[in-house]
Amino acid sequence: MFGLMMHRPLLVSSLIEHADRHHGETEVVSREADGSIHRSSWAETHRRARQLANALQELGVKPGDRVGTLGWNHHRHLEAYYAISGMGAVCHTINPRLFPEQIAGIVAHAEDRILLADPQFVPLLESLADRIACLRQVIVMGPLPGNAESAFRLMDYEALLKGASERFDWPQLDERSAAALCYTSGTTGKPKGVLYSHRSTLLHAWAVALPDSLSFSACDAALPVVPLFHANAWGFPYAAALAGSKLVLPNAQLDGASLYGLLESERVTLTAGVPTVWNQLMQYLQAEGRKLHYLKRLGVGGAACPKPIVSYFEDVQQVTVLPGWGMTETSPVAALTQPKARQARLRGDARRKWLGRSGRAPFGVDLEVVDEADNPVPRDGTTFGHLRVRGHWVCSGYYREEADPLVGGWFPTGDVAVMDRDGFMQITDRAKDMIKSGGEWISSIELEQVAASHPAILEAAVIGMPHPHWGERPLLLAVMRPGGETSAEALRRYLEQRVAKWWLPDRIEFVESLPHTATGKLNKAALRLERGL
Ligand code: ADP
Repeated sequence: MFGLMMHRPLLVSSLIEHADRHHGETEVVSREADGSIHRSSWAETHRRARQLANALQELGVKPGDRVGTLGWNHHRHLEAYYAISGMGAVCHTINPRLFPEQIAGIVAHAEDRILLADPQFVPLLESLADRIACLRQVIVMGPLPGNAESAFRLMDYEALLKGASERFDWPQLDERSAAALCYTSGTTGKPKGVLYSHRSTLLHAWAVALPDSLSFSACDAALPVVPLFHANAWGFPYAAALAGSKLVLPNAQLDGASLYGLLESERVTLTAGVPTVWNQLMQYLQAEGRKLHYLKRLGVGGAACPKPIVSYFEDVQQVTVLPGWGMTETSPVAALTQPKARQARLRGDARRKWLGRSGRAPFGVDLEVVDEADNPVPRDGTTFGHLRVRGHWVCSGYYREEADPLVGGWFPTGDVAVMDRDGFMQITDRAKDMIKSGGEWISSIELEQVAASHPAILEAAVIGMPHPHWGERPLLLAVMRPGGETSAEALRRYLEQRVAKWWLPDRIEFVESLPHTATGKLNKAALRLERGL
């Protein structure tokens, strides 16, 4: 017997409808490319999304079609999010930091026939035109480039909207329909397309908004530093609409001074991004002696956050740091380091140690750490194994790929982790980055964390070097903080006091900078390649 409750599909359009009806005047603030501030609201965002949906329909976009976007975080990109998914098409966000060949490969694989781009990315698209024959129409989300010849039909976003009706009835789609497409950044292989459904997107937004997650409320002003092209900005555009939070979009200006200015002037209470951005902001705040007056919660994920950054924001700025874990394949939020009653009592070093965890599972996803035979390892905080995940917003396959990535109904993450008795998981490494020395494993992340806790070190990377006797031994590459002073010998002594002797790197090298991937992670593949490893 079925229950007698209404059945309404879980649709992305219902988020913007709700935000318009019940939080219509709540602001959506966005920094324009020229630095000026653009003020809009949820009602205005909804109105313009309806206009854009009409314009896209006029241009021939049909349900299921992929519509590409190549842009920073700003109001037009947000409108595109809601217009494209709302009308039943698939919002395909593309990371402009990928190699041009990868961008061409992704556009061709997704068969984007139409794409919305920031003006500065039009030349990039022109240079790829031969390789992306599918793409013919480009809507420019800003001033059109001069009268140069173009391989595409270039259209002005604002002109399109001006001529479009404000009436659009969002279709009542099947909630399993595709809403968005995001390719993995290819850290561990060629980019693969993760195809989110309306249902998965909505349930993920709900989970992200919960008090024990990033916690969104109608009293919050939320600023996603994480780009709209990086796994749907970790759900910010959806969770903010769901909760009726004010949304603040920083565009491409992510340097310390610009970010600080926006966090203060818009009284931002909640933000999230990768560790490298917080490192930059920390350096700016330290150098200028500035205080964050309104920020309450700072989410950090995508990579393990160096401890000095966590301590700085918690202890000096009195901001609660929320480390989290996820992947493009998990929408992405699948774990957050929010305390249970026991952890809420922790202070000082004990709290900081606990903040080194990557998080616990919210309702809706399940996490498990297993051994080589897929048996769960003890939850003792020290036995490591392979992390696997399943749930309502975990991918079950890749777009237009035959191979089934699941094993026994679980998604194997490729990460190695430990889990403690309270269910807090900590990533110790990507499986392929672990260093196997004399039959024992060394965690490169752990070594990097210890090295980066030295006051003179800004960033550190550890990779395995082949060794005739031990199999592999660690090589530590370190970037010195501006004005910092230390030597390989002194750093070695520092490490000696903090890690097991056999973990000590065989070599320590100082480098000017370290390569990062398009999503801000240490690019260990590039480091290995540079050294012919
Ligand atoms: P990619 O496309 O490079 O895989 P993702 O953003 O999907 O990009 O990256 C997911 C990976 O990032 C995870 O599998 C994990 O290795 C790493 N990662 C994410 N969060 C953390 C974290 N808190 N600590 C350590 N590693 C993390």
